[in-house]
Amino acid sequence: MATFGTLSDRLTETFRNLRKKGQLTPADVDGTVREIRRALLDADVALPVVKDFTAKVRERALGDEVNRALNPAQQVVQIVNEELIAILGGQQRRLQFAKNPPTVIMLAGLQGSGKTTFAGKLAKQLEKDGHTPLLVAADLQRPNAVNQLQVVASQAGAAIYAPEPGNGVGDPVKVAKDGVETARRQQHDIVIIDTAGRLGVDAELMKQAADIRKAVDPDEVLFVIDAMIGQDAVNTAKAFQEGVDFTGVVLSKLDGDARGGAALSVASITGRPIIFASTGEGLDDLEPFHPDRMASRILD
Ligand code: GDP
Repeated sequence: MATFGTLSDRLTETFRNLRKKGQLTPADVDGTVREIRRALLDADVALPVVKDFTAKVRERALGDEVNRALNPAQQVVQIVNEELIAILGGQQRRLQFAKNPPTVIMLAGLQGSGKTTFAGKLAKQLEKDGHTPLLVAADLQRPNAVNQLQVVASQAGAAIYAPEPGNGVGDPVKVAKDGVETARRQQHDIVIIDTAGRLGVDAELMKQAADIRKAVDPDEVLFVIDAMIGQDAVNTAKAFQEGVDFTGVVLSKLDGDARGGAALSVASITGRPIIFASTGEGLDDLEPFHPDRMASRILD
């Protein structure tokens, strides 16, 4: 994946230089930590995350575990790896299903973040696993949004609940509620609700999303965030956390040449796990997110 390419190259270079040394002096450790810090900041990782990360790496790298190691440089790489896994959320977190179906999954995020595409990807993957998802078109803000979800649903071979097109603005909360009711009646075991997003965080739309959340009491609220968003990741993620209190994150467009800062900041800033990585425009370009695999990709 192109994302993290530069960061990965720079860390590789840093570790190559470190491996040339035998025992490490505190100055070696400091120099390495400084380089890691610069590389992370250049990759658009949020400052508080970088500070916390480098402080932990420094403390551990100067500590006993490295002093006593046969191969100190390797030990430092190991520490960086472990701390990267930690900021990416530690353990893999899977989608949570309701004990009594339907499981209700609500999507939130900025316009263009990849929500609608993700809805289709998720529906397709769930169908492959034997589920019967119903997509619900509660994005009534953009004229074309319902239509777009219809296209995605038909590509995914998934059922869809949508208000009649051309019906004015409509009430997205009612659409969401009716969608869940329809799922219950038609025995779909999962409901995926697509909601409206604007280019920037918007109080009115956030309230709409919060109202939908209250009305349908979802099992998961997934916040879709574009990996290209750069330094805006922190403010956007915090605004959505406050607004809809999401339960998990979907990172989209990890196939692009984003610098990856959003990916490396969001779990740590919000304390919410990244559950999926979206890696292309095709409906099959979706992977469960594994913090340890992502860390290895960055450090390889
Ligand atoms: P929404 O406004 O949040 O519903 O976003 P869309 O699902 O409409 O996606 C916006 C654009 O991003 C579309 O052109 C999608 O094809 C594209 N897109 C979505 N996910 C990905 C991804 O993982 N990788 C790439 N390269 N493009 C994506």
